[in-house]
This record gives sequence, structure tokens and C-alpha cells, in this order.
Amino acid sequence: MSSEAGALTEPPAPQLQQEVTESQPAPLDLGSINDDSEAYMQTGQFDKAVNALSELLRRSDVEGCAAASPACHCSLLLARSAAYARLSEQLRSIPAAQSEHSAICAPDPCQLAALATQDAEAALRLQPGCPVALLHKGNGLCLQEQYREAEAAYRAGLLAQPTHAQLLQRLRELQESGQICRAASDVSDVSATRGTVRKAPRLDEEQDDDMDCSICSRLLYEPVTTPCGHTFCRSCFARSMDHSSRCPLCRTVLHVGSQLPVTRTLATLLEKCHPEEYKARREEEQLAAPSETAACPLPLFVMSLLLPGQTVALNIFEPRYRLLCRRAMSGNRRLGMAALDHNHELCEVACEAEITECHPQVDGRFYIEVVGRRRFKPTEVWEQDGYRVARPEYVTDEVPAADTEEAEALQAVAAEVEGLADAWLQRLRTLSRGHRGIADLVLRAGAKPASHDVEALSFWVARLVCPLLDRGEPGLVRKLMLMRCTQERLQTVKEVLQQLSRCQPSQCSIM
Ligand SMILES: [Zn+2]
Ligand SMILES: [Zn+2]
Repeated sequence: MSSEAGALTEPPAPQLQQEVTESQPAPLDLGSINDDSEAYMQTGQFDKAVNALSELLRRSDVEGCAAASPACHCSLLLARSAAYARLSEQLRSIPAAQSEHSAICAPDPCQLAALATQDAEAALRLQPGCPVALLHKGNGLCLQEQYREAEAAYRAGLLAQPTHAQLLQRLRELQESGQICRAASDVSDVSATRGTVRKAPRLDEEQDDDMDCSICSRLLYEPVTTPCGHTFCRSCFARSMDHSSRCPLCRTVLHVGSQLPVTRTLATLLEKCHPEEYKARREEEQLAAPSETAACPLPLFVMSLLLPGQTVALNIFEPRYRLLCRRAMSGNRRLGMAALDHNHELCEVACEAEITECHPQVDGRFYIEVVGRRRFKPTEVWEQDGYRVARPEYVTDEVPAADTEEAEALQAVAAEVEGLADAWLQRLRTLSRGHRGIADLVLRAGAKPASHDVEALSFWVARLVCPLLDRGEPGLVRKLMLMRCTQERLQTVKEVLQQLSRCQPSQCSIM
């Protein structure tokens, strides 16, 4: 595969805001353009509605309507807020398969949600306490996954107009979706209705609930803190991540891995303040059989396969992948690099990649560098906001028992391949002096692993040869990754090495 973001060439950035025309402004006819934007809204062309409303708002500003008639300006802002929100929802609901077929170029759904919130806030500055503006602000915040703030906006709106039907409905929906009622004050009610274990009476009386885990409702033990700022017992959190990739408290999507580090200061504090109870909790946890935690779900970046150890630079411009990238960056910085086969089905093997560098761009894109870590089979696959998420089943090679003929044969092939690879690398280094592509290939293949790590060695050689052949043999990377026998992989790369060594620089496309 090529080293720069595969086949993804970046299409022109979509323009939401229409070019400002230099011609004389026509007299403002709010009616007709507003009709247009309504028609766009009804037919699901939310981007066009945004454009039409932006144009109206611009003219409303130019002609001083904002000052003369704040109510009118306000209604335009709220209409645009609604259009941004609908566009954001629309982008998230596109199935992953559809956008894998051809890349979607659109702004980031989170940015659109933020714009929806901004418009509602601008309207609120013109008309403080306006319930409709608070409704839009709440809707925008919901799309930004800021559920508590959204709840506050809905409640503020209901203070002004207690019978507002939409505000009541949105607040109810938010509560029913389980996205807010986990507030600290009513957690115990929730755990009661869910039938979870009620809190055992405290050893000493005067204690508050702040030190309790909201999953097991007991004193936090080995507390871990999520990127959204919530704290749980480590084991409770790990169990919850087996079932869902959302924070159990605020429902924020997390790609963090189930094993978060323990928040040390808090653990020390808990132990100091509640020595008896903490000790009891420790004994309890130690008795409990260590549960087999399932591998944590990985979000998938579907483009091409990545070899373990391989480094690749990516330009993340698609809205769904920007969302994925942002979530991975606030979590464990891991994602799965996967590819589709010729039937547009997900390949049976993929590679866990770690984001080693991330440069957010002003236009919302990300330049990232990832390095392949472990191979895995995507077992269970589902969709999350337009991208795929898989539960990985990690695979490694089968190692022959020591002192067997098999083990000896493996060592012999490994030594032979290592020799060939060293010569090949030497040749690449000589050629790379006048060739950036080759210098890059050598750099991205990384350092040679220790000779006894034969599996790593086989992938290192693969990284030195596959990028040169990929066009001719797209299935090779996949084949090498599917193999569970190191000797077979070494044998395959050996043949490729021999073939490449025979070819003259002029015959090889890259040289
Ligand atoms: Zn707990
Ligand atoms: Zn949370």
C-alpha cells in the first residue's frame, strides 16, 4: 500500500457559506428566500437551507435589520440552528457501507452541532430567556453529547414557559434515553429501579455519596476516570465496557480500552478517609474470580490493511472519521485499520493501530500518523455514528514447540531470510540516496527486530517489500496477515525478496 493515505486524495473542501457577491444588494425580501429555505428543510437539503439562511442573515446584518427588528433576526438564527442540527444528524445516520463506497465530503457533524448551538446562543443574546432559542440550544448540545448542559437549557426554557410542548418532549426523551438521569442526585434511584445491589450500610455514619461508584453504588475501589470526567471502580468500568462503548453515566462514546489506569491520588484519599471500608472492598475484589474481560471494541478506519509495525500517514477529512479520530484521541488512541474485499465485505483480518501523531487542522481535518500494533479478526461488527466498530479477536502465529524439527526449520528459514533482507536493505539504502520514495519506505519499515523474534522479523521483511509490489499483488498483504504459521510467511517473503533482487532498477516501477 502506498505510504500517503492510500487512494484518498482530498476533494475540494465543501463550502457552506456562499461566496459573497460584490453586486448591489437587492432589497431584502425575507419572504421568498425564507420560503426557499423552508422548502429545502422539507426536502432534506439541509446544506442548501443553511446557505439560504446564511445569505439572509448576512443581508439582515448589512441592512441593519438585526438592530431594527431583533425578533426577525432571531427567527433566522433559529432557523439556521435547526438546519445545522438536521445536517449534523443526517451525516451521522449515513450507513458506513455507503460512505466506504465513495467518500463523503462534508463538515464534521460535531462542528455542525457546535454551529447550531452558537446560533441558538446568538439568538438568546437578542432575546434572553426565549424558550424556542433554549430548545434549539438544548438540541445542539445534545448533538455535541453535552447532555447535562442540554438538560439545563431545556429546564431554563421550561422555567419561562412551563407548558412548552416541544421542550417537555425533548426533556422526556433525554431522560428516557438514559442520557441524563444518572445525575449524582438520582443515581441511587436509578440503581434501585434497575434492580442492582443496594448499598450496604456504611461503616461510619457521616458519609456522603460522592465517594461512591455509580455502577455498584458502593465505595469506589481502584477508581478510574474516563475522558468525560466520570469515575468508577476499575472492575465495574471494565465490565461495563464489555457491553457498551459509552460512559455508563453520561453516555458519551468512549474508545478507551477497558483497562484505564487507576487514579492514584483518589485511591490514596479513599483509603485514608475510609480505611475499614476500603479494606473490605479490597478483600471482596480479591475473592471475586478475575473475570475474563472481552477485548475492548475498536473503531474501524476502513481503507487498506496495515502490517504490524508499519507506519502510515493519513489525512482524515471525512466527517465520520474526524469524529472517530477525536474520540480515539480522547481515549486510548487506538483504531483498527481494515479493508474491504472485492465483494465490499470487511476483510477477515485487520490491524490494531496506534495514533502516534495527531495534528488537527484549522478546517477540522486531522493529519495523523499511525503505527500497526496487533493483528485481529473483527468478530462482532456494528455501526456508531456512520463508522464501524468491531470487537477484536487478537491473533498471533502458532509457535512450534522448542527443540522440534519444525522449530529448527523455522530458525533456518529465518536466518536465510534475514541475510537476504539485509542485502536488500543495503541495496535500498544505496538507491534511496536519489529517491525520496525509497528513503521513505526504509524509514517507515522501522528498525529490524531481534533475530529470535521470527514473527516480527517476517513482518519487517514484509514491510520492506510489500509497498513495492502492492499494485501488482493487492492480496499479498492480506495473505501474509492471515497466515498463522511464521515459516510459511517467511517462505513467502523470501520468494518475493528473491524476485525483487533479480530485477534491475530500470525494470522496477519505483526504482
Ligand atoms: Zn463500582
Ligand atoms: Zn461520562
